Amino acid sequence: MKKLLITGGAGFIGSHVVRLFVKKYPQYQIFNLDALTYAGNLENIVDIEAAPNYTFIKGDIVDAPFIDQLFAEHQFDGVLHLAAESHVDRSITDPLSFVKTNVIGTVNLLNAAKASWQGNYEGKRFYHISTDEVYGSLGAEGLFTETTAYDPNSPYSASKASSDHFVRAYGETYGLPYVLTNCSNNYGPFHFPEKLIPLFINNIIQNKPLPVYGDGKYTRDWLFVEDHAVAIDLVFHEGKNHDTYNIGGFNEWQNIDLVKLLCKIMDEKLGRASGASEQLIAYVKDRPGHDLRYAIDASKINRELGWKPSVTFEQGLEKTVNWYLENQTWLNNITSGAYASYYEKQYAN
Ligand code: NAD
Repeated sequence: MKKLLITGGAGFIGSHVVRLFVKKYPQYQIFNLDALTYAGNLENIVDIEAAPNYTFIKGDIVDAPFIDQLFAEHQFDGVLHLAAESHVDRSITDPLSFVKTNVIGTVNLLNAAKASWQGNYEGKRFYHISTDEVYGSLGAEGLFTETTAYDPNSPYSASKASSDHFVRAYGETYGLPYVLTNCSNNYGPFHFPEKLIPLFINNIIQNKPLPVYGDGKYTRDWLFVEDHAVAIDLVFHEGKNHDTYNIGGFNEWQNIDLVKLLCKIMDEKLGRASGASEQLIAYVKDRPGHDLRYAIDASKINRELGWKPSVTFEQGLEKTVNWYLENQTWLNNITSGAYASYYEKQYAN
């Protein structure tokens, strides 16, 4: 019997990871710890809430005494840490909440794991889920590898870089068993509609403008979220102790090309005239400190653990668009709430 703590399991990626672990490992006990911030939504995991091997705990990783007590009570064998403030734009207006959750929250979890395991690390593992944004920005050429120097540019990526360093430092200083992954942009079902792909799907449905930053030439690598969850499962069980893996989709897109592809798919789905949704594209003022290009070399995880994405971008986007069209109640529940006023403020000009 393994007792695992998954943090941030009511969020986008966390919900897919919780679902995969609860279903695939009935012999494990899965505890999902989430503060249910604006980004956390129990509707994301409603299908597994009654599973006998699943427990939800509402709580804040910034609250150290609570975290210590939780670890003392449950004696977890492993931690998969996904809870985070995750939106770059929000980090620009409120950096401190990113320091609190992403840095202090991570250190609280490391301290609690260390205290609970007391140097007896057999069968124990702390898995920190991170982002490729810690590497900063690439020019037109090259890829991020596991040895690329950290060079974060946004308060979000600086906070994630800092948390990565703490995880590594706990491994070096105290011998804490850890694995770390840095993944590129995810997309798929249950993605909060402040992020590019669900934002644009929703706006196309609503016939609202599609705000594209700057000249639209920013380039990102995209990975279907269920493929990320599979990689996380693999790294958690088979990744080498004290090691780092990059995870990516081998799938680079300039924002403007991605938006045009989405418009094309949506026109077909909604029965609109070809080119109709593209009319909604509206270039807006650039994000400060915007990184030009991220691209991941995911050959290490492919070579060492045999992982590669299972769907192409076209297949993944098709699944994603279908999911949003079939789950408009989920979308409306979110967009009618607090998110609506945030959206107005962010894109008011
Ligand atoms: P998300 O914003 O959708 O979910 C984050 C979850 O964490 C939410 O459920 C939220 O309620 C919870 N949370 C926030 N603060 C908390 C706190 N103080 N205590 C407890 N819970 C708290 O994020 P996501 O996109 O699912 O990202 C998950 C992780 O993966 C993050 O660490 C992120 O940095 C990393 N990541 C994301 C991407 C991506 O493209 N989304 C890519 C690479 C890595």
